[in-house]
Amino acid sequence: MLAENCIFCKIVRNDIPSKIIYENDETLAFLDIFPIAEGHTIVVPKKHYENIEAIPDEILISVIKIVKKLATLLHDKLNFEGYNILQNNFKAAGQVVQHFHFHIIPRNFNDSRFRLAIPREQAIEEDLDQILKIIKG
Ligand SMILES: [Zn+2]
Repeated sequence: MLAENCIFCKIVRNDIPSKIIYENDETLAFLDIFPIAEGHTIVVPKKHYENIEAIPDEILISVIKIVKKLATLLHDKLNFEGYNILQNNFKAAGQVVQHFHFHIIPRNFNDSRFRLAIPREQAIEEDLDQILKIIKG
Protein backbone atom coordinates (compact mmCIF):
# COMPACT_ATOMS: atom_id res chain seq x y z
CA MET A 1 0.00 0.00 0.00
CA LEU A 2 1.33 3.43 -0.91
CA ALA A 3 1.72 5.92 1.89
CA GLU A 4 -0.63 8.38 0.09
CA ASN A 5 -3.55 5.98 0.50
CA CYS A 6 -2.68 4.80 3.99
CA ILE A 7 -5.23 5.77 6.65
CA PHE A 8 -2.58 6.16 9.34
CA CYS A 9 -0.46 8.39 7.07
CA LYS A 10 -3.59 10.47 6.51
CA ILE A 11 -4.03 10.75 10.27
CA VAL A 12 -0.33 11.72 10.64
CA ARG A 13 -0.80 14.44 7.96
CA ASN A 14 -4.04 15.51 9.66
CA ASP A 15 -6.01 14.84 6.45
CA ILE A 16 -8.23 12.76 8.71
CA PRO A 17 -8.95 14.17 12.17
CA SER A 18 -8.12 11.98 15.14
CA LYS A 19 -8.14 12.11 18.92
CA ILE A 20 -4.42 12.52 19.46
CA ILE A 21 -3.21 11.69 22.95
CA TYR A 22 0.53 12.05 22.33
CA GLU A 23 2.86 13.26 19.62
CA ASN A 24 6.59 13.76 19.16
CA ASP A 25 8.87 14.04 16.10
CA GLU A 26 8.71 10.34 15.24
CA THR A 27 5.59 9.00 16.89
CA LEU A 28 1.86 9.65 17.01
CA ALA A 29 -0.67 8.09 19.38
CA PHE A 30 -4.43 8.42 18.99
CA LEU A 31 -7.61 6.80 20.22
CA ASP A 32 -8.83 3.91 18.04
CA ILE A 33 -12.04 4.90 16.28
CA PHE A 34 -13.29 1.30 16.62
CA PRO A 35 -12.24 0.70 20.22
CA ILE A 36 -12.30 -2.76 21.74
CA ALA A 37 -12.35 -1.01 25.11
CA GLU A 38 -12.51 2.55 26.43
CA GLY A 39 -9.05 4.06 25.95
CA HIS A 40 -7.98 1.65 23.17
CA THR A 41 -5.00 3.48 21.69
CA ILE A 42 -3.00 3.15 18.47
CA VAL A 43 0.68 4.12 18.46
CA VAL A 44 2.38 4.59 15.07
CA PRO A 45 5.67 5.84 13.69
CA LYS A 46 4.95 8.99 11.69
CA LYS A 47 6.82 7.53 8.71
CA HIS A 48 5.18 4.72 6.79
CA TYR A 49 6.67 1.28 7.44
CA GLU A 50 4.51 -1.70 6.62
CA ASN A 51 5.49 -4.03 9.45
CA ILE A 52 8.11 -4.95 12.04
CA GLU A 53 10.45 -6.24 9.34
CA ALA A 54 10.45 -2.87 7.59
CA ILE A 55 10.79 -0.49 10.54
CA PRO A 56 14.38 0.55 11.40
CA ASP A 57 15.50 -0.53 14.87
CA GLU A 58 16.01 3.01 16.16
CA ILE A 59 12.46 4.03 15.18
CA LEU A 60 11.05 0.85 16.70
CA ILE A 61 12.85 1.61 19.96
CA SER A 62 11.45 5.13 20.14
CA VAL A 63 7.92 3.88 19.34
CA ILE A 64 7.99 1.13 21.99
CA LYS A 65 9.21 3.64 24.56
CA ILE A 66 6.12 5.74 23.83
CA VAL A 67 3.93 2.61 24.07
CA LYS A 68 5.31 2.00 27.56
CA LYS A 69 4.83 5.61 28.58
CA LEU A 70 1.25 5.73 27.32
CA ALA A 71 0.27 2.31 28.67
CA THR A 72 1.41 3.52 32.08
CA LEU A 73 -0.45 6.83 31.67
CA LEU A 74 -3.68 5.18 30.48
CA HIS A 75 -3.51 2.58 33.24
CA ASP A 76 -3.11 5.36 35.78
CA LYS A 77 -5.84 7.65 34.41
CA LEU A 78 -8.50 5.21 33.22
CA ASN A 79 -8.41 2.77 36.07
CA PHE A 80 -8.60 -0.51 34.17
CA GLU A 81 -7.22 -3.74 35.60
CA GLY A 82 -4.74 -4.71 32.89
CA TYR A 83 -3.96 -4.24 29.24
CA ASN A 84 -2.74 -6.03 26.16
CA ILE A 85 -0.12 -4.58 23.86
CA LEU A 86 -0.75 -6.04 20.44
CA GLN A 87 1.25 -5.73 17.25
CA ASN A 88 0.07 -7.64 14.16
CA ASN A 89 2.20 -8.38 11.10
CA PHE A 90 0.72 -9.36 7.72
CA LYS A 91 -2.91 -10.02 6.93
CA ALA A 92 -2.85 -13.65 8.13
CA ALA A 93 -2.08 -12.33 11.61
CA GLY A 94 -4.88 -9.76 11.53
CA GLN A 95 -2.96 -6.71 10.35
CA VAL A 96 -5.69 -4.54 8.80
CA VAL A 97 -3.80 -1.28 8.21
CA GLN A 98 -0.48 -1.88 6.47
CA HIS A 99 1.33 0.76 8.52
CA PHE A 100 3.26 -0.58 11.49
CA HIS A 101 1.42 0.05 14.74
CA PHE A 102 0.88 -1.04 18.29
CA HIS A 103 -2.47 -1.39 20.00
CA ILE A 104 -2.79 -0.65 23.69
CA ILE A 105 -6.00 -2.42 24.73
CA PRO A 106 -7.33 -1.82 28.23
CA ARG A 107 -8.69 -4.92 29.94
CA ASN A 108 -10.77 -5.78 32.96
CA PHE A 109 -11.46 -9.12 34.59
CA ASN A 110 -15.08 -9.13 33.51
CA ASP A 111 -14.74 -7.68 30.02
CA SER A 112 -16.20 -9.73 27.21
CA ARG A 113 -15.33 -7.97 23.95
CA PHE A 114 -11.77 -9.17 23.63
CA ARG A 115 -10.62 -12.58 24.76
CA LEU A 116 -7.38 -14.38 24.26
CA ALA A 117 -8.62 -17.94 24.49
CA ILE A 118 -6.12 -19.91 22.49
CA PRO A 119 -6.27 -23.69 22.79
CA ARG A 120 -2.77 -25.07 23.33
CA GLU A 121 -1.25 -28.49 23.69
CA GLN A 122 2.17 -29.35 25.00
CA ALA A 123 4.60 -29.91 22.13
CA ILE A 124 6.37 -33.18 21.39
CA GLU A 125 10.10 -32.74 21.96
CA GLU A 126 11.11 -34.11 18.52
CA ASP A 127 8.84 -31.52 16.87
CA LEU A 128 10.51 -28.70 18.82
CA ASP A 129 13.95 -30.06 17.88
CA GLN A 130 12.94 -30.22 14.20
CA ILE A 131 11.70 -26.60 14.25
CA LEU A 132 14.82 -25.47 16.11
CA LYS A 133 16.96 -27.15 13.44
CA ILE A 134 15.12 -25.25 10.68
CA ILE A 135 15.34 -21.89 12.51
CA LYS A 136 19.01 -22.23 13.38
CA GLY A 137 20.05 -23.99 10.18
ZN1 LIG B 1 1.11 4.81 6.36
